[in-house]
Amino acid sequence: NIRQSCPLDKDELGSKTWAFLHTMVAYYPDHPNEKQKADVNSFFDTFSKFYPCNICAEDLQKQFKHSPPQTESQEKLSQWLCRIHNEVNKKLGKPEFDCKLVNQRWRDGWLDGSCD
Ligand code: FAD
Repeated sequence: NIRQSCPLDKDELGSKTWAFLHTMVAYYPDHPNEKQKADVNSFFDTFSKFYPCNICAEDLQKQFKHSPPQTESQEKLSQWLCRIHNEVNKKLGKPEFDCKLVNQRWRDGWLDGSCD
């Protein structure tokens, strides 16, 4: 039924977007070449200009200026994005995520096998 789906609100858009961003970064190369580093940098720059939530996009541009993407490796980039997300969590009064667990959450699954 074409009437069942509605436009996303800020929270739905947010959780879906975080899922995409963390998953994209989970599969970023361990040893990116210079072109990949420049491309991912420009992805986040453009993303922060078009993210369709004005206050979110404005704050994000400030965050990126202060803390630019760490494009040297998957480990660096995923830790960087985890810190960015934690800044937003803090601003919204949500609990901080333990960044040691970011690859289990978004790439490998939990060590207890619950995602297998
Ligand atoms: P979300 O924060 O959406 O998180 C989804 C899942 O990600 C969590 O269940 C958890 O498993 C995992 N997770 C949580 N923290 C981390 C982390 N640090 N690293 C890795 N994984 C993690 N909303 C506003 O009201 N104001 C804003 O300014 C704002 N800015 C945003 C900026 C961006 C770039 C994005 C993508 C979203 C923004 N949002 C903002 C939306 C907000 O961040 C949440 O997405 C929304 O409130 C829904 O929250 P949630 O509880 O579903 O969990």
